Amino acid sequence: MLVDVHCHLNFEDFDKDRDEVVNRAEKLGMTVVDSATNINDARKSLELSRKYKIVKSSLGLYPLYAINLNERQLDEEINFISKNKDDIIAVGEIGLDKSVEDHRIERQIEIFREVLSLAEKLKKPVVIHSRKAEKECIDIIETFKIRHVDMHCFGGNFKLVKRIQDNGWNFSIPTNIVRLLHFQKIVEQTSMSQLLTETDSPYLSPYRDRRNEPSFVVETIEKISEIKKLDKEEVKKLIYMNFQKIFLKN
Ligand SMILES: [Zn+2]
Repeated sequence: MLVDVHCHLNFEDFDKDRDEVVNRAEKLGMTVVDSATNINDARKSLELSRKYKIVKSSLGLYPLYAINLNERQLDEEINFISKNKDDIIAVGEIGLDKSVEDHRIERQIEIFREVLSLAEKLKKPVVIHSRKAEKECIDIIETFKIRHVDMHCFGGNFKLVKRIQDNGWNFSIPTNIVRLLHFQKIVEQTSMSQLLTETDSPYLSPYRDRRNEPSFVVETIEKISEIKKLDKEEVKKLIYMNFQKIFLKN
């Protein structure tokens, strides 16, 4: 009973040893949600979910990639997600990103609305990337009727954290919580019923200079159990129950 709700197992970083990586996760009894950021990832992600019993697929559209598509390409991306709706457990990652200078936020917002409409129609949970555009993301999602929202790796301020809590949405806490006070504070201030665990592998490793992988999610569990003063097995169980409620029963 252990889950990584957001990672990129489909990335080439894992091409050399993906079997071993999945094997290590399987030994821990994990469920791993692989996230696609574009149509090429998406094809790989679906393949992985067919190949490995413990891997589920989430298909999305990365904002800084999406702004470079023309209308025809954008339709193709969105139709691909729609067409594969029965083989995915979430739409994501999707969202907004203002971390680069040429972020063309207006265009990002148009595209974000399109994918959110799709998720609403498909009744799927969404996994949200909100780097440096946290408030804009929340403002927009609030205008949709989407039941389950997971704010992945949330970097926004605590006024926004409160808004997310009040909306009944969730935070997936990445493995680099081991050194980032921000995530430790989110955990401290959020009910166990709104917390999930993720790695964002190959990124956000808990160990410096080492590629991240799903099995490292145990580090997040460890930290949450320390902050919440709960037994590790209890934390695993509660988070797995959240995962089931949000991703598997919709
Ligand atoms: Zn990611």
